[in-house]
Amino acid sequence: MSDLLTRLSDAPLTGGLLRAMGVPSPAHLEREEGAYDLDPLTGKRVMASNTALAREALGALGATIVDATSDVEVLLYDATDARTPEDLEALYAFFHEHVPELAASSKVLVLAPALSDQGAQAAATSRAIEGFTRSLAKELGRRGATANLLRVGHDGRDRLVGPMRFFLTPRSAYVSGQVLHVTGQARPSGSFAMPLLEDQKALVTGAARGLGKATARRLATEGAQVMVVDLPSAREDLETVADEIHGEAILLDITDEDAASVLPTPDVIVHNAGITRDKILHKMTSEAWSSVLEVNLEAILRLDEALLEKIPEGGRAVYISSVSGIAGNVGQTNYAASKAALIGYVHDQAVKHAQRGITMNAIAPGFIETAMTEKMPATRRMVARRLNALQQGGQPRDVAEAVTFLASPEADGVTGQTLRVCGQSMMGA
Ligand code: NAD
Repeated sequence: MSDLLTRLSDAPLTGGLLRAMGVPSPAHLEREEGAYDLDPLTGKRVMASNTALAREALGALGATIVDATSDVEVLLYDATDARTPEDLEALYAFFHEHVPELAASSKVLVLAPALSDQGAQAAATSRAIEGFTRSLAKELGRRGATANLLRVGHDGRDRLVGPMRFFLTPRSAYVSGQVLHVTGQARPSGSFAMPLLEDQKALVTGAARGLGKATARRLATEGAQVMVVDLPSAREDLETVADEIHGEAILLDITDEDAASVLPTPDVIVHNAGITRDKILHKMTSEAWSSVLEVNLEAILRLDEALLEKIPEGGRAVYISSVSGIAGNVGQTNYAASKAALIGYVHDQAVKHAQRGITMNAIAPGFIETAMTEKMPATRRMVARRLNALQQGGQPRDVAEAVTFLASPEADGVTGQTLRVCGQSMMGA
């Protein structure tokens, strides 16, 4: 990210002045290259509440819980036994003591009980933990640290390690203030091994550039054979991506009526291709309305109708939605409608495919630095990239990491959900 505000805040003379005025000066976010590690927490300074669930899950990631009082890189609190408002006192006390010990770019994770029918006190307590975690995330953001929450059902306890590997490492650098439910809803794929996606065929639409390109690269790093799809007009870029990752380039407009018949059946499908045609509603042409709905929604539903039934057991479908689909946005009635539709679609359809171990999840990126956001007017862009707890725009690889997590056996316990990759955007918060 480089814009006028960044340059001014990096300069000695103006930097101090801007900080004194409360203008955000974003922290460096630690990110990770390459494929997943089996035990990424080995050697890290990890603090945790002392429960069997926390110890076991952390142990599986190579962590040793230390009694550190400074530079803590990972902080885990297990609140799965919390049932009454009095239990919140322990949550407060734990973080009150340990937050000052956190290092920059550290990872905080809270485990909470599932929102089930355990009575009024339990329901209220469970939601309180969510409010607490989201607020803590906002407080930690300016240090480049994140805080997230996993709701763990009884049937999800043995599926915790995968989501923890994502949330407790720099793979989730731009994910903060989020809640995921870990359940036993989808049949386990039972094929956990490293590299994560070896022998898997993945198909990524809109992969000539931006988020799709970063996703194709990342999936290939995990051993997937990747087929990249984009418009014929993007031939050169698409073929470059395919060559780089030893994948296959498929030139196709996904809105073509017979698009599904051209595509091979993958194990993992990433519906990433999308367009914007922004205008406030009374100035929006019907062409702008229908082209966005056609690419971002109708083409996806048509492809799924043909492909999902054929995807092998344990397959994965990931849909790139948007924070605009959650919060709405001026000038984006068409875009927000199409992206909100994807959220409703995965929520509804996941149940149907869970029997075969197929998971369906959406990702809602916030402001990510790509050609799409490059089109925004400069001043709006400068403000938009700072309207989140981490005070900066995300990188395409941040979305690619989230896709990789959801596309892998690591996310056996996650289906029908939407994961925001938005630095805890103020939009729809
Ligand atoms: P981009 O414009 O850089 O790339 C989109 C790609 O999709 C392009 O290569 C384009 O040629 C391809 N495409 C468009 N229509 C197609 C069609 N009919 N058939 C095949 N390919 C087609 O966009 P991006 O920023 O990389 O965004 C990728 C996805 O993420 C989109 O769905 C977008 O709505 C979503 N998203 C992006 C952001 C962001 O900040 N960049 C935020 C939220 C959501």
